[in-house]
Amino acid sequence: MVKIVDGIHALETFAQTALVVDSHLILIDTGVDSKATDLLKALKRIGYQPRDIEFIVITHTHPDHVGGLKTMVEKTEAVVAAHEIEIPYITRKERYPGPPGPQRHEPVDVNHVLKDSDKFEGLLVIYTPGHTPGSIALLAEEKSVLIAGDSVQNEGGLQPMDDRYNINPEQHRESIKKLAQFEFEHLIPGHGRPVIGGASQKLKELARKL
Ligand SMILES: [Zn+2]
Repeated sequence: MVKIVDGIHALETFAQTALVVDSHLILIDTGVDSKATDLLKALKRIGYQPRDIEFIVITHTHPDHVGGLKTMVEKTEAVVAAHEIEIPYITRKERYPGPPGPQRHEPVDVNHVLKDSDKFEGLLVIYTPGHTPGSIALLAEEKSVLIAGDSVQNEGGLQPMDDRYNINPEQHRESIKKLAQFEFEHLIPGHGRPVIGGASQKLKELARKL
């Protein structure tokens, strides 16, 4: 687990998972492993118990972001929050209308409905559809960190996600342009290395090329 700033940590298992530590713990995404082994170990290493996590926010329902959700809910009893459009995919009442194929995660109930521009436990919810219908990014404004989910990736430079994984590639790019209107120092992408310093400037450069 890598400390991005005081109170925000990122763990890359396959996809990035973020942990916001303030007055209480917020976990953002849950990795690919259905047993959440690395995540639970990392949590212990920074001195917390699963029960310390009060909220789990899901950016979208791809297997590498919700794989450990069921386990984490059982171990934490946390409130699960997601964008209203994404909820039927998390509960598996619906399937994504396109790639990348069937969802296999254990269905989990969502207890808190998020919408664009909501403030949730100190995080600004930014609706970023295109990768999936109800994808979100979360801006920790005080700490100046954007937790981007799969709205953008940083495997060899900031880029859109590979279009094989985007339900609506054009909308995905519009969402990157939307994120580029915000100001933040650091960025945790869904895949690849966190961007430390000058992150919104780098995202603006990418948005100009799209
Ligand atoms: Zn994804």
